[in-house]
Amino acid sequence: MVTGSVPFFDVSTTNDEDITQSCVGNVCSRNWYILGEEVLNFEAEFAAYNDTRHCVTVANGTDAITLALKAVGVRQSDKVVLVANAGFYGSTAVHAVGAEPLYVDVSRTTRNMDPSELAKTLDSNSMSAVIVTHLYGQAAEIEAISAMCDKYKVPLIEDCAQAHGAIVNERKVGSFGTVGCFSFYPTKNLGALGDGGAVITNDDSVAQSLRELRQYGWDKKYRVALIGGQNSRLDEIQAAILRTKLALLDGWNEDRRKIALAYSAALEEYVETPTITESSVAHLYVIQCDKRDQLKEHLTSAGIVTDIHYPIPDHQQPAYVADVTLPNTEYLARTCLSLPCYPGMPQQHLDRVIDQVCQFFKMP
Ligand SMILES: *Cc1c(COP(=O)(O)O)cnc(C)c1O
Repeated sequence: MVTGSVPFFDVSTTNDEDITQSCVGNVCSRNWYILGEEVLNFEAEFAAYNDTRHCVTVANGTDAITLALKAVGVRQSDKVVLVANAGFYGSTAVHAVGAEPLYVDVSRTTRNMDPSELAKTLDSNSMSAVIVTHLYGQAAEIEAISAMCDKYKVPLIEDCAQAHGAIVNERKVGSFGTVGCFSFYPTKNLGALGDGGAVITNDDSVAQSLRELRQYGWDKKYRVALIGGQNSRLDEIQAAILRTKLALLDGWNEDRRKIALAYSAALEEYVETPTITESSVAHLYVIQCDKRDQLKEHLTSAGIVTDIHYPIPDHQQPAYVADVTLPNTEYLARTCLSLPCYPGMPQQHLDRVIDQVCQFFKMP
Protein backbone atom coordinates (compact mmCIF):
# COMPACT_ATOMS: atom_id res chain seq x y z
CA MET A 1 0.00 0.00 0.00
CA VAL A 2 2.90 2.34 0.75
CA THR A 3 4.19 3.80 -2.48
CA GLY A 4 7.30 5.87 -1.93
CA SER A 5 7.89 7.84 1.20
CA VAL A 6 6.35 11.05 2.42
CA PRO A 7 9.20 13.48 3.12
CA PHE A 8 9.05 15.97 5.96
CA PHE A 9 10.00 18.85 3.69
CA ASP A 10 10.70 19.32 0.01
CA VAL A 11 12.03 22.38 -1.81
CA SER A 12 10.91 21.57 -5.34
CA THR A 13 8.25 24.30 -5.24
CA THR A 14 10.14 26.97 -3.32
CA ASN A 15 13.53 26.45 -4.96
CA ASP A 16 12.27 25.98 -8.48
CA GLU A 17 15.08 26.57 -11.02
CA ASP A 18 13.18 29.50 -12.51
CA ILE A 19 13.45 31.17 -9.13
CA THR A 20 17.06 30.42 -8.38
CA GLN A 21 19.12 30.27 -11.60
CA SER A 22 18.64 33.83 -12.81
CA CYS A 23 19.34 35.26 -9.35
CA VAL A 24 22.66 33.48 -9.13
CA GLY A 25 23.52 34.41 -12.72
CA ASN A 26 22.77 38.09 -12.18
CA VAL A 27 24.99 38.34 -9.13
CA CYS A 28 27.86 36.46 -10.77
CA SER A 29 27.70 38.68 -13.84
CA ARG A 30 28.23 41.74 -11.61
CA ASN A 31 31.07 40.15 -9.62
CA TRP A 32 30.02 41.88 -6.38
CA TYR A 33 29.28 39.43 -3.59
CA ILE A 34 29.09 41.21 -0.23
CA LEU A 35 26.97 44.24 0.80
CA GLY A 36 25.96 45.35 -2.66
CA GLU A 37 22.76 46.32 -4.43
CA GLU A 38 20.90 43.04 -3.82
CA VAL A 39 21.38 43.34 -0.06
CA LEU A 40 20.43 47.04 -0.07
CA ASN A 41 17.31 46.35 -2.12
CA PHE A 42 16.29 43.32 -0.10
CA GLU A 43 16.68 45.31 3.12
CA ALA A 44 14.44 48.07 1.74
CA GLU A 45 11.88 45.56 0.45
CA PHE A 46 11.76 43.45 3.61
CA ALA A 47 11.43 46.59 5.78
CA ALA A 48 8.55 47.75 3.55
CA TYR A 49 6.92 44.30 3.67
CA ASN A 50 6.94 44.45 7.47
CA ASP A 51 6.15 48.16 7.59
CA THR A 52 9.23 49.04 9.64
CA ARG A 53 11.78 51.81 9.09
CA HIS A 54 14.84 49.56 8.93
CA CYS A 55 15.99 46.08 8.03
CA VAL A 56 19.59 45.03 8.68
CA THR A 57 20.56 41.69 7.16
CA VAL A 58 23.00 39.36 8.92
CA ALA A 59 24.50 35.91 8.41
CA ASN A 60 21.83 33.79 10.16
CA GLY A 61 18.93 33.91 12.60
CA THR A 62 20.98 33.20 15.71
CA ASP A 63 23.29 36.10 14.87
CA ALA A 64 20.19 38.25 14.34
CA ILE A 65 19.19 37.63 17.97
CA THR A 66 22.77 37.93 19.27
CA LEU A 67 23.34 41.28 17.53
CA ALA A 68 19.88 42.46 18.59
CA LEU A 69 20.73 41.73 22.24
CA LYS A 70 23.95 43.73 21.89
CA ALA A 71 22.20 46.57 20.05
CA VAL A 72 19.53 47.00 22.74
CA GLY A 73 22.27 47.15 25.37
CA VAL A 74 22.36 43.68 26.93
CA ARG A 75 25.73 43.08 28.58
CA GLN A 76 27.53 40.29 30.39
CA SER A 77 25.65 38.97 33.47
CA ASP A 78 22.42 40.78 32.51
CA LYS A 79 19.22 38.77 32.70
CA VAL A 80 17.11 37.99 29.64
CA VAL A 81 13.63 36.42 29.81
CA LEU A 82 12.67 33.82 27.23
CA VAL A 83 10.82 30.55 26.72
CA ALA A 84 12.48 27.13 26.88
CA ASN A 85 10.55 25.31 24.12
CA ALA A 86 11.97 27.09 21.07
CA GLY A 87 15.00 25.02 20.10
CA PHE A 88 17.72 26.80 22.15
CA TYR A 89 18.32 29.44 19.43
CA GLY A 90 17.46 32.36 21.70
CA SER A 91 19.41 30.72 24.51
CA THR A 92 22.45 30.39 22.22
CA ALA A 93 22.30 34.14 21.62
CA VAL A 94 21.85 34.92 25.33
CA HIS A 95 24.90 32.81 26.20
CA ALA A 96 26.87 34.35 23.31
CA VAL A 97 26.63 37.77 24.94
CA GLY A 98 27.41 36.31 28.38
CA ALA A 99 23.95 37.08 29.74
CA GLU A 100 21.81 34.80 31.90
CA PRO A 101 18.61 33.21 30.58
CA LEU A 102 15.55 33.39 32.81
CA TYR A 103 12.99 30.93 31.50
CA VAL A 104 9.23 31.39 31.76
CA ASP A 105 6.66 28.74 30.98
CA VAL A 106 4.45 28.68 27.89
CA SER A 107 0.72 28.18 27.54
CA ARG A 108 -0.20 24.56 26.93
CA THR A 109 -2.64 25.50 24.19
CA THR A 110 -0.82 28.24 22.26
CA ARG A 111 2.64 26.77 22.99
CA ASN A 112 3.84 30.38 23.15
CA MET A 113 4.99 32.54 26.09
CA ASP A 114 2.31 32.81 28.75
CA PRO A 115 1.83 36.57 29.35
CA SER A 116 0.83 36.02 32.98
CA GLU A 117 4.10 34.11 33.61
CA LEU A 118 6.00 36.99 32.02
CA ALA A 119 4.16 39.48 34.24
CA LYS A 120 5.19 37.57 37.36
CA THR A 121 8.82 37.48 36.24
CA LEU A 122 8.93 41.18 35.33
CA ASP A 123 7.39 42.01 38.70
CA SER A 124 10.07 40.22 40.70
CA ASN A 125 13.25 40.69 38.66
CA SER A 126 15.22 43.38 36.93
CA MET A 127 15.52 42.38 33.28
CA SER A 128 17.63 43.66 30.42
CA ALA A 129 15.52 42.23 27.61
CA VAL A 130 12.65 39.88 26.78
CA ILE A 131 12.81 37.49 23.82
CA VAL A 132 9.42 36.26 22.62
CA THR A 133 9.27 33.50 19.99
CA HIS A 134 6.37 33.16 17.57
CA LEU A 135 6.65 29.38 17.58
CA TYR A 136 5.57 27.11 14.73
CA GLY A 137 4.33 30.18 12.81
CA GLN A 138 1.67 31.06 15.37
CA ALA A 139 1.96 34.64 16.61
CA ALA A 140 2.44 34.94 20.37
CA GLU A 141 0.18 37.22 22.43
CA ILE A 142 2.38 40.04 21.25
CA GLU A 143 0.16 43.02 22.07
CA ALA A 144 -0.13 42.05 25.74
CA ILE A 145 3.57 41.18 25.94
CA SER A 146 4.65 44.39 24.24
CA ALA A 147 2.46 46.47 26.60
CA MET A 148 4.13 44.77 29.60
CA CYS A 149 7.62 45.43 28.25
CA ASP A 150 6.68 49.08 27.69
CA LYS A 151 5.41 49.34 31.25
CA TYR A 152 8.65 47.96 32.69
CA LYS A 153 10.78 49.74 30.04
CA VAL A 154 12.40 46.47 28.97
CA PRO A 155 13.48 46.07 25.31
CA LEU A 156 11.45 43.41 23.48
CA ILE A 157 13.07 41.13 20.91
CA GLU A 158 10.67 39.17 18.71
CA ASP A 159 12.04 35.91 17.35
CA CYS A 160 10.16 35.63 14.04
CA ALA A 161 12.33 32.89 12.54
CA GLN A 162 9.23 30.68 12.16
CA ALA A 163 6.71 33.42 11.44
CA HIS A 164 7.67 35.52 8.39
CA GLY A 165 4.51 37.32 7.30
CA ALA A 166 2.29 36.44 10.27
CA ILE A 167 -0.14 39.27 11.03
CA VAL A 168 -1.72 40.43 14.30
CA ASN A 169 -4.35 43.15 13.99
CA GLU A 170 -3.08 44.18 10.57
CA ARG A 171 0.53 44.45 11.76
CA LYS A 172 3.32 42.04 10.89
CA VAL A 173 5.06 40.19 13.70
CA GLY A 174 8.48 41.67 14.28
CA SER A 175 7.11 45.22 14.16
CA PHE A 176 5.72 45.20 17.72
CA GLY A 177 8.96 44.84 19.66
CA THR A 178 12.10 46.97 19.80
CA VAL A 179 13.44 44.61 17.13
CA GLY A 180 12.21 41.60 15.16
CA CYS A 181 14.66 38.82 14.24
CA PHE A 182 14.43 36.49 11.25
CA SER A 183 16.25 33.46 9.92
CA PHE A 184 16.31 32.56 6.23
CA TYR A 185 17.52 28.99 6.79
CA PRO A 186 16.32 26.96 3.78
CA THR A 187 13.29 25.36 5.49
CA LYS A 188 11.88 28.61 6.93
CA ASN A 189 8.78 30.23 5.43
CA LEU A 190 11.16 32.57 3.59
CA GLY A 191 14.29 30.52 2.96
CA ALA A 192 17.58 31.15 1.19
CA LEU A 193 19.86 28.59 -0.47
CA GLY A 194 22.00 28.60 2.63
CA ASP A 195 22.17 30.61 5.83
CA GLY A 196 20.78 34.11 6.22
CA GLY A 197 19.12 36.37 8.74
CA ALA A 198 17.78 39.86 9.37
CA VAL A 199 16.71 42.26 12.10
CA ILE A 200 13.91 44.79 11.57
CA THR A 201 13.34 47.85 13.76
CA ASN A 202 11.77 51.30 13.86
CA ASP A 203 14.56 52.61 16.11
CA ASP A 204 17.16 54.59 14.14
CA SER A 205 19.95 54.25 16.67
CA VAL A 206 19.39 50.51 17.18
CA ALA A 207 19.53 50.11 13.38
CA GLN A 208 22.79 52.07 13.25
CA SER A 209 24.30 49.89 15.99
CA LEU A 210 23.22 46.75 14.14
CA ARG A 211 24.88 47.97 10.93
CA GLU A 212 28.11 48.55 12.82
CA LEU A 213 27.96 45.34 14.87
CA ARG A 214 27.48 43.12 11.82
CA GLN A 215 30.72 44.40 10.34
CA TYR A 216 33.49 44.43 13.00
CA GLY A 217 31.99 47.41 14.84
CA TRP A 218 33.01 49.74 12.01
CA ASP A 219 31.23 53.08 11.76
CA LYS A 220 33.26 53.61 8.60
CA LYS A 221 35.81 51.51 6.83
CA TYR A 222 38.57 50.30 9.18
CA ARG A 223 37.34 52.49 12.11
CA VAL A 224 36.01 50.42 15.01
CA ALA A 225 33.54 52.55 16.93
CA LEU A 226 31.54 49.89 18.81
CA ILE A 227 32.59 47.04 21.05
CA GLY A 228 31.18 43.57 20.36
CA GLY A 229 31.44 43.71 16.59
CA GLN A 230 31.31 40.51 14.55
CA ASN A 231 31.45 39.54 10.93
CA SER A 232 27.85 38.64 10.17
CA ARG A 233 26.67 39.55 6.68
CA LEU A 234 24.14 38.23 4.21
CA ASP A 235 25.72 37.70 0.79
CA GLU A 236 24.48 39.06 -2.53
CA ILE A 237 23.39 35.69 -3.96
CA GLN A 238 21.19 34.95 -0.95
CA ALA A 239 19.76 38.49 -1.02
CA ALA A 240 18.88 38.12 -4.72
CA ILE A 241 17.13 34.80 -4.02
CA LEU A 242 15.24 36.27 -1.06
CA ARG A 243 14.06 39.28 -3.10
CA THR A 244 12.52 36.97 -5.67
CA LYS A 245 10.97 34.71 -3.05
CA LEU A 246 9.58 37.56 -0.94
CA ALA A 247 7.02 38.22 -3.68
CA LEU A 248 5.83 34.61 -3.31
CA LEU A 249 5.84 34.41 0.49
CA ASP A 250 2.19 35.28 1.16
CA GLY A 251 0.99 32.65 -1.33
CA TRP A 252 3.24 30.01 0.20
CA ASN A 253 2.04 30.92 3.69
CA GLU A 254 -1.53 30.46 2.47
CA ASP A 255 -0.57 26.97 1.18
CA ARG A 256 0.87 26.08 4.57
CA ARG A 257 -2.25 27.35 6.35
CA LYS A 258 -4.53 25.25 4.13
CA ILE A 259 -2.54 22.10 4.91
CA ALA A 260 -2.61 22.90 8.63
CA LEU A 261 -6.36 23.54 8.57
CA ALA A 262 -6.95 20.24 6.77
CA TYR A 263 -4.87 18.39 9.39
CA SER A 264 -6.68 20.01 12.30
CA ALA A 265 -10.13 19.27 10.86
CA ALA A 266 -9.24 15.61 10.26
CA LEU A 267 -7.24 14.87 13.40
CA GLU A 268 -8.88 16.81 16.23
CA GLU A 269 -10.87 13.81 17.41
CA TYR A 270 -7.67 11.79 17.99
CA VAL A 271 -4.94 14.17 19.15
CA GLU A 272 -4.52 17.69 20.53
CA THR A 273 -4.46 19.82 17.40
CA PRO A 274 -3.36 23.46 17.17
CA THR A 275 -5.99 26.08 16.49
CA ILE A 276 -4.87 27.61 13.22
CA THR A 277 -5.79 31.25 13.78
CA GLU A 278 -5.68 34.14 11.34
CA SER A 279 -2.28 34.96 12.85
CA SER A 280 -0.66 31.65 11.90
CA VAL A 281 1.64 31.04 8.94
CA ALA A 282 1.95 27.33 9.85
CA HIS A 283 5.72 27.04 9.71
CA LEU A 284 5.35 23.66 11.38
CA TYR A 285 2.24 21.59 11.99
CA VAL A 286 2.63 20.20 15.50
CA ILE A 287 0.19 17.92 17.32
CA GLN A 288 0.32 16.75 20.94
CA CYS A 289 -0.21 13.10 21.72
CA ASP A 290 0.47 11.02 24.86
CA LYS A 291 1.48 8.07 22.69
CA ARG A 292 3.80 10.28 20.66
CA ASP A 293 6.69 7.82 20.37
CA GLN A 294 4.43 4.94 19.26
CA LEU A 295 2.65 7.18 16.76
CA LYS A 296 5.98 8.35 15.36
CA GLU A 297 7.06 4.68 14.99
CA HIS A 298 3.83 3.82 13.23
CA LEU A 299 4.24 6.70 10.76
CA THR A 300 7.90 5.83 10.14
CA SER A 301 6.98 2.26 9.23
CA ALA A 302 4.33 3.64 6.87
CA GLY A 303 7.08 5.65 5.11
CA ILE A 304 6.08 9.01 6.61
CA VAL A 305 8.85 11.24 7.92
CA THR A 306 8.01 13.23 11.05
CA ASP A 307 10.11 15.24 13.47
CA ILE A 308 10.03 16.54 17.05
CA HIS A 309 10.31 20.28 17.69
CA TYR A 310 11.90 20.11 20.19
CA PRO A 311 12.73 16.98 22.19
CA ILE A 312 14.85 18.65 24.91
CA PRO A 313 13.70 21.93 26.51
CA ASP A 314 16.38 24.61 26.83
CA HIS A 315 16.58 24.35 30.62
CA GLN A 316 17.34 20.61 30.39
CA GLN A 317 20.09 20.77 27.76
CA PRO A 318 23.07 18.89 29.22
CA ALA A 319 25.55 21.72 28.60
CA TYR A 320 23.34 24.36 30.25
CA VAL A 321 21.06 22.70 32.80
CA ALA A 322 19.03 25.37 34.62
CA ASP A 323 17.42 24.84 37.99
CA VAL A 324 13.81 25.57 37.07
CA THR A 325 10.62 23.56 36.56
CA LEU A 326 8.39 24.43 33.61
CA PRO A 327 5.44 22.01 33.60
CA ASN A 328 3.86 23.02 30.29
CA THR A 329 7.18 23.23 28.46
CA GLU A 330 8.15 19.77 29.74
CA TYR A 331 4.76 18.28 28.88
CA LEU A 332 4.92 19.68 25.35
CA ALA A 333 8.44 18.31 24.78
CA ARG A 334 7.21 14.82 25.76
CA THR A 335 4.13 14.87 23.55
CA CYS A 336 4.79 17.07 20.48
CA LEU A 337 5.06 15.64 16.99
CA SER A 338 5.54 17.60 13.77
CA LEU A 339 3.83 16.33 10.61
CA PRO A 340 4.93 17.26 7.06
CA CYS A 341 3.63 20.73 6.10
CA TYR A 342 5.21 22.81 3.35
CA PRO A 343 4.23 24.71 0.18
CA GLY A 344 3.75 22.31 -2.71
CA MET A 345 3.09 19.28 -0.49
CA PRO A 346 1.15 16.86 -2.73
CA GLN A 347 -2.49 16.25 -1.77
CA GLN A 348 -1.86 12.45 -1.85
CA HIS A 349 0.84 12.89 0.79
CA LEU A 350 -1.47 14.93 3.00
CA ASP A 351 -4.19 12.29 2.60
CA ARG A 352 -1.74 9.52 3.46
CA VAL A 353 -0.51 11.20 6.62
CA ILE A 354 -4.08 11.83 7.80
CA ASP A 355 -5.07 8.29 6.93
CA GLN A 356 -2.15 6.77 8.82
CA VAL A 357 -2.68 8.88 11.95
CA CYS A 358 -6.35 7.84 11.98
CA GLN A 359 -5.37 4.17 11.45
CA PHE A 360 -3.03 4.31 14.44
CA PHE A 361 -5.86 5.35 16.73
CA LYS A 362 -8.25 2.76 15.28
CA MET A 363 -5.83 -0.11 15.92
CA PRO A 364 -7.00 -2.47 18.64
C1 LIG B 1 15.68 28.61 12.87
C2 LIG B 1 15.43 29.38 14.09
C3 LIG B 1 16.37 30.27 14.62
C4 LIG B 1 17.81 30.34 14.19
O1 LIG B 1 18.05 30.52 12.90
P1 LIG B 1 19.46 30.11 12.24
O2 LIG B 1 19.43 30.87 10.96
O3 LIG B 1 19.45 28.64 12.05
O4 LIG B 1 20.54 30.57 13.15
C5 LIG B 1 16.02 31.06 15.69
N1 LIG B 1 14.81 30.94 16.26
C6 LIG B 1 13.89 30.07 15.82
C7 LIG B 1 12.57 30.01 16.51
C8 LIG B 1 14.16 29.25 14.72
O5 LIG B 1 13.24 28.39 14.29
